[in-house]
Amino acid sequence: MDIVKIVIAGPRGRMGKEAVNLVLGTEGYELSAVVDRKYEGMKLGDIDGFPESDALIYTDFEKCLQDVQPDVLIDLTTPEVGMYHTKTALTYKVRPVVGTTGFSKEDLAELEQLSQEQETGCIIAPNFAVGAVLMMKFSQMAAKYFSDVEIIELHHDQKLDAPSGTAVKTAQMIADVRESKKQGHKDEKETIQGARGAEYEGMHIHSVRLPGLIAHQQVLFGADGQTLTIRHDSYNRNSFMSGVKLAVDTVMKMDSFVYGLENIIE
Ligand code: NAP
Repeated sequence: MDIVKIVIAGPRGRMGKEAVNLVLGTEGYELSAVVDRKYEGMKLGDIDGFPESDALIYTDFEKCLQDVQPDVLIDLTTPEVGMYHTKTALTYKVRPVVGTTGFSKEDLAELEQLSQEQETGCIIAPNFAVGAVLMMKFSQMAAKYFSDVEIIELHHDQKLDAPSGTAVKTAQMIADVRESKKQGHKDEKETIQGARGAEYEGMHIHSVRLPGLIAHQQVLFGADGQTLTIRHDSYNRNSFMSGVKLAVDTVMKMDSFVYGLENIIE
C-alpha cells in the first residue's frame, strides 16, 4: 500500500489535535511534519499533550513543503493563514484538504483557478461532519417546497468567523433551488441593528456564540400553517474526523477542485 505523506497545519488547535490523532492512528497515513507558529525544529511528540511522534515542527510553511514533499496538506488554522497555506501548497502541487472556514467567494474562486492551473486536487469543506452535510442536502431538498427559511447557527465563543462556513454554504445551496424571495414584511424595520441577522439572497442567518457549544445548526422553514426544522449537532470534534479521512482518501485520486463534502458523498 502506498503511504500518504501528510502535513497538518495548526496541530495545537482544537481541530488540529483531533486530526493529529486521526493521521497517527490510520494505517497507510504518515504524519510527515506539522506547521505551527512556535516550537520550530522540535518533534511533535516532545510537546506536552501529544502522543509519540517524530513529526518535525516547522514554522516556515514553504521550507516544510520543500523538505518534506508531502502528498497532502490538512489545514485547520485561520482564514488568512489557511488561504496562504492552500495557495502555497497548490503551487508545490501538494493536495490541500482544508477545514479552515471564513474564505470569501473571491478566495474560493482564486483557489479553484489555481487548482485547475496546477492540475492538483483540492478539497475545501466548511463542515466535515457527515450529519451536517446531510442537514445541508435535506435543507436544499426542502427549499424546493418552502421558500421561506431562516438559518440559525450556534457555535462556541472562540470561533472567529460569522456566519459560519456551514451556514453560508447552506444558504448558497438553498439559493440554488429556491424561488428568489425577500422574506418578512416589506416595511420591516430593525429597532436594534442586527436584530434580523445577516441577509443572503433574502434569507436571514443568525449566529449564536456561547461557551459550552461546539457546532450546531438549525434550518427553519415556514409555510401557511406549518413549519419544518432540520437540525444537526456536533457534540465533539471527533465527529468531523471521518469526513477528514474521506477527504484525504478522495483528494489523492483527484486533480480538480471541490468545495463542500456533499460533492464527494453519494
Ligand atoms: P483553534 O483551536 O483556534 O486552532 C487554530 C490553530 O491554528 C491554533 O493552534 C493556532 O495557533 C494555529 N495557527 C494560527 N496561525 C498559524 C500559523 N501561521 N501556522 C500554523 N498554525 C497557526 O481553532 P479550531 O477550533 O481548531 O478551528 C480551526 C479552523 O477549523 C477554524 O477556521 C474553524 O472555523 C474550522 N473548523 C472547521 C470544521 C470543519 O468541519 N470544516 C469544524 C470545526 C472548525 P495559536 O494557538 O498559536 O494561535
